[in-house]
Amino acid sequence: MASFTAHSTKAQASLASSQQAKLVSARPQRSTVRCNASLPVSLDSRQLNQAVNRCIRVSRHVATRSSRGQRCAVVAMAGAKYDYDLVIIGCGVGGHGAALHAVEQGMKVAVIEGHDIGGTCVNRGCVPSKALLAASGRIRDMKNEMHMKSMGIQVGSVSFDRAGVAAHATQLASAIQGNLKRSLEALGVDILIGQAKFVDNHTIKYGLPGRVDVGGQVTAKDVIIATGSVPFVPPGIPIDGKTVFTSDHALKLEWLPNWVAIIGSGYIGLEFSDVYTALGCEVTFIEAMDKIMPGFDTEIARMAERLLIKGRPIDYHTGVIATKVTPGVPGVKPVEIELTDFKTKKVVDTLEVDACMVATGRAPYTNGLNLGSIGVETDRRGFVPVSEKMEVLGSDGKVVPNVYCIGDANGKYMLAHAASAQGISAVENMLGRPNVLNHLSIPAACFTHPEVSFVGVTQEKAEEMAKEQGFPLGVAKTSFKANSKALAEKEGEGMAKMLYRKDTGEILGVHIIGLHAADLIHEASNAIATKQTVQDIKFAVHAHPTLSEVLDELIKSAHVNPPSSSSNSSAAKAGAKQPVAA
Ligand SMILES: Cc1cc2nc3c(=O)[nH]c(=O)nc-3n(C[C@H](O)[C@H](O)[C@H](O)COP(=O)(O)OP(=O)(O)OC[C@H]3O[C@@H](n4cnc5c(N)ncnc54)[C@H](O)[C@@H]3O)c2cc1C
Repeated sequence: MASFTAHSTKAQASLASSQQAKLVSARPQRSTVRCNASLPVSLDSRQLNQAVNRCIRVSRHVATRSSRGQRCAVVAMAGAKYDYDLVIIGCGVGGHGAALHAVEQGMKVAVIEGHDIGGTCVNRGCVPSKALLAASGRIRDMKNEMHMKSMGIQVGSVSFDRAGVAAHATQLASAIQGNLKRSLEALGVDILIGQAKFVDNHTIKYGLPGRVDVGGQVTAKDVIIATGSVPFVPPGIPIDGKTVFTSDHALKLEWLPNWVAIIGSGYIGLEFSDVYTALGCEVTFIEAMDKIMPGFDTEIARMAERLLIKGRPIDYHTGVIATKVTPGVPGVKPVEIELTDFKTKKVVDTLEVDACMVATGRAPYTNGLNLGSIGVETDRRGFVPVSEKMEVLGSDGKVVPNVYCIGDANGKYMLAHAASAQGISAVENMLGRPNVLNHLSIPAACFTHPEVSFVGVTQEKAEEMAKEQGFPLGVAKTSFKANSKALAEKEGEGMAKMLYRKDTGEILGVHIIGLHAADLIHEASNAIATKQTVQDIKFAVHAHPTLSEVLDELIKSAHVNPPSSSSNSSAAKAGAKQPVAA
């Protein structure tokens, strides 16, 4: 089969203009395929064919330049031996983040994308869900007469257009997809369209089913697998996309069922309960664990239950699993859900609802990668095994040379920014600069109203660690009720909690529920990532009045008692404590 590579003239121009461009790697001329057209979101096969037809053109590949002196050796090597320094399979946020960092390091990069640029996050995840949450949150707010009245605002009747709310999400996804694609093109990353599979650990074939004119084979010194995930649907649940559906369908907001059961009370289910109830639907959660929101710190989950569930048309069944779901017909026949006790395995109830959303997690997507050709087997749950440096491990447990896996496909931390951070880490490692990402410093957030966020371990886990390792555990807490900005917004409900070592000041975890909690968590996650202690950040100054003072207050309320005196602490170095303006 002919070998196809892609080439970006924009990148060539920008790299050529770089003062640092030192090397021209003489490479053989070859046929190239280049894609410039914007891919529509969620393409069906007809749309995909049209998009591919629009973007294919044949050009000549002459030379490439390195923008960074220090990468010349690798580029030279790529020029001599491989088409690329790095090929990334999958262009979700993980692949995109890795590509950007690799280009910045002077590498020649191609991404191969089989469906839509931006992957889950941009097209079927973070982005459209946050658009729905933004619109429905506004509606909830304006419908809350008491809240509005308490600030002297009178609102007439509030209505919304379901299709308009849905369009906001689709348009945002489409715009961000375009931004992502343009950012890659501007940096000279070649975008190859097709489903990719390994020939060996330096050679990748790609193509589209039924399209002999699309695809080819490329070689690279290093390869990153960034193929992401798809919704996990437990056995016994047929998805009809209308009355029984996953987040992929729910994001399109094609209709608003009066009563929707959501299987799973993780962050995806919870965010959709926020959207649905704001838009006038009733929700029933079905949760296999004994408590609702099982992933959260228990105290935060209790408050979340009060703020996000109790005052809303939401109820729940815990300790049960949906063993059988029979789809219905909207307005004609309900969906039937058989509930089975998780422990006894006895059928305990049957629910009849208008719709059922399955939010039981995500399964890695590695179909068709031909991992066997590089000696790799996925684990029991389908994840690609990796080392802490994101190197792929073979079935013999040894590192497969030059192959990395990042993002949802490795299952280490299934969030967008984790995928991207792992991509950066993988690139650092392939450049010979050992890098291990501290996953305990990665923040997580649930974008409900109010938001929930956390980083590090829960209080339960911290107590376990303190017992095992024999250190004194500190638990600092503060309330949004003490924050002027939150009170000005009439949003005083919320709390923040920090778990730390009283002997060293090490921060083990921070949990926040309250207004803009997702934005507030970064002070804590950055402190953990950079190994700053409570003493180090205690004297940082926060603008007043801001929500960030919630964290300021939290950190200041922590008490560290190091065994020896504090002469080495940053506090001593920083001098006297400055008072915070009232
Ligand atoms: C409803 C919902 C809301 C979410 N909200 C958030 C949030 O608020 N914040 C957050 O951090 N995370 C959120 N997530 C999770 C987030 O979307 C994922 O963690 C993230 O998208 C993972 O990125 P990735 O790059 O690993 O994979 P993906 O984004 O899934 O991208 C993988 C890409 O690889 C392509 N691909 C697969 N196989 C091949 C192949 N063989 N050849 C070529 N291409 C291939 C796919 O087409 C896809 O485009 C949400 C997810 C959902 C479902």
